Amino acid sequence: MAQEHFQALMLREEGKATKAQLEALTFADLPDNDTLVEVDYSTLNYKDALALTGKGKIVRTWPMVPGIDFAGTVVESRNPAYTPGTKVVLTGWSVGEKYWGGYSRFQRVKSEWLVPLPNGFTTRQAMMVGTAGFTGMLCVLALERAGVTPSSGPILVTGAAGGVGSVAVAVLSRLGYNVSALTGDPTKEAYVKELGASAVVNGPEWAESARPLESQKWSGAIDTVGSKVLARVLAEMDYNGVVAACGLAGGADLPTTVMPFILRAVKLVGVDSVMLPSKDRIPAWERLVKDLPGDVLEKITSRVVPLSEALQAAEDMLAGNLQGRVLVSVN
Ligand code: NDP
Repeated sequence: MAQEHFQALMLREEGKATKAQLEALTFADLPDNDTLVEVDYSTLNYKDALALTGKGKIVRTWPMVPGIDFAGTVVESRNPAYTPGTKVVLTGWSVGEKYWGGYSRFQRVKSEWLVPLPNGFTTRQAMMVGTAGFTGMLCVLALERAGVTPSSGPILVTGAAGGVGSVAVAVLSRLGYNVSALTGDPTKEAYVKELGASAVVNGPEWAESARPLESQKWSGAIDTVGSKVLARVLAEMDYNGVVAACGLAGGADLPTTVMPFILRAVKLVGVDSVMLPSKDRIPAWERLVKDLPGDVLEKITSRVVPLSEALQAAEDMLAGNLQGRVLVSVN
């Protein structure tokens, strides 16, 4: 192997604190998995931000190379399906939580966690999407599968200026849905409108507890926030409305009642990108290539940071000072 040492961001547990530092690794330091990948880009997802700052219990084995997703090029593999030079993408499978992840110039992973880079995306574009955007698309597919169409009525996306929300707003509006965007930050209104939201929702009621049923407003919704926000979304759904829930940016609780379900036949669909079976991943990536054009990818990418600036970006994300997606340039 030509290069002896390469850079990685390492998380180490120091007492109850997490310390993030750049370290020089060798190939012998990497886990003994079947496929070595040279990483071009990883990204900063909400989970990465919690892991880097130690503000959430994300890391399950120490020390940890974080980065729950990456895209790059296969260097060598014991799996003949992944010949050297194959471009690949990885999201989920507890990488960056239990197994070493993308914040390293090289990483060794199980080939079953990889998907070939979708035709039509560069590794950079695939990571502009990243886990967050991939999950945004899974939420759109969940609404489609439940029968929600552009003619069903307005759709609400919560946490709309975040990574998942931005992609959901952009894809839905491109598909012809009438999208309203919930964003708590007035400075992000122009951004979500530029992505295609026809209206911005941000009234003071969103900080309050909803009544069991509120007036009906939405035929479908994508929720990234959880807690009181998801409870209000459920209470505001039309008869037969569908909510795809994927996040907990506002809290993991759900202070609701059964009323939306038993009186309005509302459906709550859970969306998970981590353990999603491989067979369902490629179609979702294909839809992203088709429904998320390159200019939108540029719009949703607010920052490109080197490994040395990932921790600062993580703190900005948790403080709500970011919009869209953050690329981590590893190479
Ligand atoms: P971001 O930090 O990019 O976006 C989250 C957005 O949520 C923020 O931009 C903000 O939106 C809103 N928000 C944050 N805190 C609050 C709050 N207290 N109350 C109301 N709104 C709030 O994160 P991502 O988009 O990457 O992820 C969103 C959620 O989805 C996270 O909980 C993440 O863990 C989850 N997720 C789940 C996945 C799965 O497989 N199920 C995969 C990927 C992410 P705004 O500024 O517009 O108000």
